[in-house]
Amino acid sequence: MLAMTSHGLYCPTGDFYIDPSRGVERAVVTHAHSDHARRGSKLYYCAASGEGLLRGRLGAQIAVRPFKFGEPFELGGVRVSFHPAGHILGSAQVRLEREGRVWAVSGDFKREPDPTCEPFELVRCDVFITEATFGTPGFRWDKAADLGGQIRDWWRENAARGANSVLFAYSLGKTQRVLGLLRPYARSAVYCHPAASALTDCYRKEGIALAQTRCLSALAPGSRLRGELVIGPQSLLESEYAAFLGDDFETAFASGWMARGPGGYGRGFLLSDHADWDDLVLTARETGARTVYVLHRGEGALVRHLRSLGIDAWPINQLGAGADQLSLL
Ligand SMILES: [Zn+2]
Ligand SMILES: [Zn+2]
Repeated sequence: MLAMTSHGLYCPTGDFYIDPSRGVERAVVTHAHSDHARRGSKLYYCAASGEGLLRGRLGAQIAVRPFKFGEPFELGGVRVSFHPAGHILGSAQVRLEREGRVWAVSGDFKREPDPTCEPFELVRCDVFITEATFGTPGFRWDKAADLGGQIRDWWRENAARGANSVLFAYSLGKTQRVLGLLRPYARSAVYCHPAASALTDCYRKEGIALAQTRCLSALAPGSRLRGELVIGPQSLLESEYAAFLGDDFETAFASGWMARGPGGYGRGFLLSDHADWDDLVLTARETGARTVYVLHRGEGALVRHLRSLGIDAWPINQLGAGADQLSLL
């Protein structure tokens, strides 16, 4: 059904790629993050709720065929459908079916609840291709933690002494998830970096409820914030917007990497949009797949562990090894 090629995962029967690494004729895209959605393809297939983000990232003029979750379509005799991956808005797992055999590609996924995207759906399959961003046993976290409340408390403590709170978060996905988590708590607007504004608008257009926001670019030159929460990329502190913060501010980072401690940040919020070790293992088992291929970092530990559970597990480069000629077709 699929082979790993120099352009990424390729389906020779259907003649399409999944998250190709460069422009191709037909790209089935799991979600709009830049390591999955790349420019230059003639036609993109994606989940309908992710179309706005995909166009926002790749350009409004790209050719897109959006499909609702669970709505099947045919590509060269392969029945394809998207199923929620729970990673960011519109993120999808790709299910492929042909002659009674089912493959599923997880894309990036997580299983804990997130107010800003569709909940993860388990896809039963014969062969499962899983991500493994946090594929070592050291990455585990409490799925029930009230991260919105934790961020609110940190913001409030800093504000009580007039200090600003600067939370570093990726512009697509993490920023909007923090805004969704803060919606029940935030009494005033959260300041956001312009890099996130258009993406945040895409979420609102899809009906996702977020905390009220103001864009840093709307502040008058010479303005000084006091006791505010600011969300942005790490480059914020080197940008023109740093002057709005004054000298008194605290920093924090929201990421799964915080499982290793806050590093150089004042505070770490363990907020991941990827499955942790436990959920990677649980999901591979629950799909019922006899064969699992593992993508990304940490593949060694996960492959070994799944094999110890009796699953036929392989690193992704073993999928259709030697099939690179296929990409020339
Ligand atoms: Zn992603
Ligand atoms: Zn990714």
